[in-house]
Amino acid sequence: MLVTPVSSARQRYLDAIGIDVYVTRSWNAAPAVIEGEFVQAEASSKAPSCGPAPSPGADWRELEAMVAGCTRCGLHAARTQTVFGTGSVSAGWLFIGEAPGAEEDRQGEPFVGRAGQLLNAMLKAAGLSRDAVYIANILKCRPPGNRDPRPEEAGACRGYLERQIELVDPVVIVAVGRIATQNLLQTSAPLARLRGTVHSLGESGRPVIVTYHPAYLLRTPADKRKAWSDLLFARREFQRRSAVQPGRV
Ligand code: URA
Repeated sequence: MLVTPVSSARQRYLDAIGIDVYVTRSWNAAPAVIEGEFVQAEASSKAPSCGPAPSPGADWRELEAMVAGCTRCGLHAARTQTVFGTGSVSAGWLFIGEAPGAEEDRQGEPFVGRAGQLLNAMLKAAGLSRDAVYIANILKCRPPGNRDPRPEEAGACRGYLERQIELVDPVVIVAVGRIATQNLLQTSAPLARLRGTVHSLGESGRPVIVTYHPAYLLRTPADKRKAWSDLLFARREFQRRSAVQPGRV
């Protein structure tokens, strides 16, 4: 098993999210954990655009206003409010989840429930803060009973997400969970097969790395270790790419 050197602060974060890490190397020399299963291959995933971008060229304010007033699918009828996205609009990291849950619908912000707390802890462990990354969802409205998004709902919302991706212009996108991954990459392949690879998003070719959803990890803590590997894999990819895009965090 390959192992990762950790600072004491990071060790505390990892302890908090329930991940054991064994230390043998210097952090700078080898920022990698349990790498054996990972194969980095550029797998092209052509994501057709489902539905036109709501207004090509919209700026953040216009886009947020469009989302707030959106009635493109039936989910608008039951929402408390739309959940647009949060974080730094110039972030190098973009995390994309599935859809708002009850707490997100109430607060108007993605990942603020229990799963969000675990996501925050994982970000911290990877040296990232919630404010320094950007977080959005495939859907901007809560599906009733937290059911999976329907294809027509994801299609209706797609243009908003595509514009968010363009505006943030991230170095790396992390798709969080099976639903986000399959929607973003327009594939039905299982998450386990998509992990450990740098995917290429549609025509833009933006790099997408996939990992487990924190709600799944709360139910299946044994897989936290794999999610941690995914984050380290993403961080290496970020570092590799930001070397040619200096200044991105
Ligand atoms: N799960 C998600 O995928 N997104 C959220 O915003 C909250 C929970």
